[in-house]
Amino acid sequence: MPMQSKVCVKEEPLAARYMGPEEILRLKERYLVPCVYHFYKKPMQLVRGDMQYLYDHTGKRYLDFFAGVSVANLGHCNPEVTERVVEQFRTLQHTTSIYLTQSVVELARRLAEITPGRLQKTFFCASGSEANEGAALLTQLFTRRKGFLAFSYGLHGHTKLTLDLTGLEFWKVDPFPCADVGYIPSPYCYRCPRGAVYPSCNLECVGEAEVLIKKDPERYAAFIAEPIHGNGGIIVPPKEYFPRLKELLEAHNILFIADEVQTGFCRTGKMFAIEHWGVEPDVMTVAKALTNGFPGAAVIAREEVANVLTRPYASTWGSNPVMATAAMATLDVLATSRLEYWATELGSYLKGELLLLKEKFPIMGDVRGMGLMIGVELVKGDKSPATVQLDFILEYLKDRGILAGRTGPGRNVLTFQPPLVITRDDVQEMLEMLEEALESAQKGV
Ligand code: PMP
Repeated sequence: MPMQSKVCVKEEPLAARYMGPEEILRLKERYLVPCVYHFYKKPMQLVRGDMQYLYDHTGKRYLDFFAGVSVANLGHCNPEVTERVVEQFRTLQHTTSIYLTQSVVELARRLAEITPGRLQKTFFCASGSEANEGAALLTQLFTRRKGFLAFSYGLHGHTKLTLDLTGLEFWKVDPFPCADVGYIPSPYCYRCPRGAVYPSCNLECVGEAEVLIKKDPERYAAFIAEPIHGNGGIIVPPKEYFPRLKELLEAHNILFIADEVQTGFCRTGKMFAIEHWGVEPDVMTVAKALTNGFPGAAVIAREEVANVLTRPYASTWGSNPVMATAAMATLDVLATSRLEYWATELGSYLKGELLLLKEKFPIMGDVRGMGLMIGVELVKGDKSPATVQLDFILEYLKDRGILAGRTGPGRNVLTFQPPLVITRDDVQEMLEMLEEALESAQKGV
């Protein structure tokens, strides 16, 4: 028998194990397509996650208020989800939809149970963009129409079609759009393009959508919308908005796709954000928090709509058992943890505190959002976007161990979408740092 060598593990400083930000930046510039942009003038290298915390290569702890953009709703490396995923990884990592797997049908049944209205049949795939592609295809097949309606400040993905469905200028990189899309104005009350004021406006923006539809009512297969704009700057439509719009769509046999990629899985205080408006989508797309941090997405449709897609259409990762296990574990934790109540309670506390800060800091033009999806629009005295100040605040918070996000058509919305497991003390800690950051920003950046 060969002698076993004694392995001597030498203690080394944590940072020595990692490349570090400078080297990553150098390699990134050399080997990644430049579209892969990052936050911060001095970015950190993240190496570990533990619930609401992330750690960089020096061991520094960050309180995460962005959740990898609304992904880790149950916290980073949530132990319950991780255990089951690891077990599944050890047992069976991949088959594909040409073979039968139990977890996939169980997950589909579960999604039918928890999604609103008559949503029933699911197609699984790997990303939110892919799910929106599938949803778009279903609605075209069902209605035999080609066009789509989408919000002027919506975002739906990075593939060719979903780039076209995306209205936000910041993300529109495609020089040759191929889809037929009519954009309707986002219900952005803080900057209403008509200068109208809610509620006396009587939702003129729905009237504008009606004018567009009536120009060519047979043109549109579906309207795709995020119930609350994510990248568009946490725009929350007024309570009558979606019911009024849905009525209009039904009058013209246009289907409604709810893109819940950012808003799903208790983020806004309900399992799905569209439930706040009591409107039934014909198709819904989910991704991100579905698996709490593992590639996976789904299109869920009403049975009649789903049943039109009978010819083979497949995604290699669509029946992945690890994806299905991650999603089932996520849904199990959500079912027992009452995180939707926590998101409502803590979200209203955070929003309330931000509104108090707004009294003190004129740079905080607007505070909006639902549950733990909250945006603060930063403005200068003339209401133009305070983007330089936002840069400063993001960096200031990061240096003091707080990660927040940036969204909005003017890229001036400071955004909070933390893991739903954060505590009141975490919120307090963030607010104290934010107040300091705002004071410094106000003194002049
Ligand atoms: N829809 C929405 C609302 C999104 O926020 C995103 C991603 N930010 C997508 C779709 C695309 O998802 P993915 O990146 O998984 O393709």
